[in-house]
Amino acid sequence: MSFFNFDERLEALDKKALSEVAPIFEYVEGITEYNQQKVLKAFIDNRVSEADLGISTGYGYGDSGRDKLDSIMAACMGAEDALIRHSFASGTHTLTVALFGILRPGDKVLCLTGRPYDTIVGVFGIDGESDGSLRDFGIEYNEIPLLSDGTPDINSIKSELSWGKYKMAYIQRSRGYSLRPSLTIGKIKELCEAVKSVSPDTVIMVDNCYGEFVEKEEPCQVGADIIAGSLIKNPGGGIAPTGGYIAGKKKYIEMCANRMTCAGVGREVGATLGHNRELYMGLFSAPHVVGEALKTAIYSAKLFELLGFEATPKFDEKRADIIESIILGNSERLVAFCQGMQSGAPVDSFVIPEPWDMPGYTDKVIMAAGAFTLGSSIELSADAPLRPPYAAWLQGGLNFHSGKTGVLCAVQSMIDKGVLRI
Ligand SMILES: *Cc1c(COP(=O)(O)O)cnc(C)c1O
Repeated sequence: MSFFNFDERLEALDKKALSEVAPIFEYVEGITEYNQQKVLKAFIDNRVSEADLGISTGYGYGDSGRDKLDSIMAACMGAEDALIRHSFASGTHTLTVALFGILRPGDKVLCLTGRPYDTIVGVFGIDGESDGSLRDFGIEYNEIPLLSDGTPDINSIKSELSWGKYKMAYIQRSRGYSLRPSLTIGKIKELCEAVKSVSPDTVIMVDNCYGEFVEKEEPCQVGADIIAGSLIKNPGGGIAPTGGYIAGKKKYIEMCANRMTCAGVGREVGATLGHNRELYMGLFSAPHVVGEALKTAIYSAKLFELLGFEATPKFDEKRADIIESIILGNSERLVAFCQGMQSGAPVDSFVIPEPWDMPGYTDKVIMAAGAFTLGSSIELSADAPLRPPYAAWLQGGLNFHSGKTGVLCAVQSMIDKGVLRI
C-alpha cells in the first residue's frame, strides 16, 4: 500500500487479520446473496418501470413510484405493508410517527430491552422533560431492565405483561450506545413468543435501526407487528439522502399513515420531489452495502483484538446489526481514533473532530463522519460518548476496501499521537 504510509507492523497485522476473517466473510457473502435476490425479486414482482423513478410535486396524488416502493419495502421486510418516505426527518422521527400512530391516551407501553436509545427517551417522556412526548398525551411508559449479561429478562417480561394490560411491547434490536448484545432474529422470535403467550393482543414494535439485511429474516417474520428504521442507515444503501420506513401489519400501517400526514388522508398524499430514484437505488443496493459494512466491522474486531483491545461482538460472533464497539479505555485514544478515522474519509478528511454536546445526548460525543450524506451511518463512521469504558461505536463502510482503510487510518493516528504502541 503506497498511498497511505501505514506503519509496517500495522500492515503485517492487517494481513493477519484479513486471513483470519476469510471464512467469516464467506458466511456474510451467503447472507448478502440471499438478501440481494430477495430485493431483486421484489423489484421484478412489482414491475418497477422507468416512470416510477420520476418526480411528483404538490399533493403527490397518484405517485405510483411511491406506492410501488411501499409494496417493495413490505416484501423486503417480510411484512404485509410498509411506508417508505424521504419526508421522515430521521430514524427517531419515523419511530415517533409509528408510536403516536398506534398509541392512544391511557395506553401503556412496556420496553422489553431496558432503557431505549438516547433520542427515544425524550419521545416516551421518560425523563419527564420534553414537551410533546407520549407522556404528555397520557401514555404510560415502563421498562424491564436487561439482565446483568445484557440480555432481556424473559421471566420478568412475562410476569409484568400477564397482569399489566399493555397496549404495546417495545423492542430495540440494536445496542445503540450501550455494550449489551444486539438482538438476533432468533432472540426477537423468542421475545415475541413470550409476549404473545401471556398477552396476545399486545402490539409488538421493534426499533429495527441498523438491523436490516444483516440476517436472512426480519422481525416481522418472527412475530413483530410493526418495525421502523432510518434510510441513512442500512435500507438506504448509502444512496437515500434522508428518510425512514415503517413496515408491519396493514391495520397498523394505516394508523401510522394517518399520523404521518393526517387522519382520513393518510398515505394518499406526499410528493416525492424526485427522490424516488434515490430511494429505489438505495434499497436495491442495501443488501450489498450492508454486507460491506459487516465485513468492515468483522475486520475491525479482528484487527483491534490483535492490537490487544476488546471488541464486541467478537469477529466470529453471530451478528444482529452492523455495529462494532471497540473499547479503547481512555478519552485520548478515543479522540485519536475518531480523528484518524476522519482523516481517512472521502469527504471532509481535513476536518479534525472534537467532542461536543450533541442535542438529545447526555454526555459529550465525538464523531468521525466524513460522509456524502450528513450523519449517514451506513457510511463509515464512529460515534463515541466520552464516558467509561471509552468505547467507540463503529459502523458502516460503503465498500470494504475504503472501510478498512479508514480503520487503518484510525489505528495509525493512535500510533502517531503516542497513545498506542504496537
Ligand atoms: C440510529 C438509531 C435510532 C434513530 O436515530 P436517528 O439519529 O434519529 O436516526 C433509533 N434507535 C437506534 C437503536 C438507532 O441506532
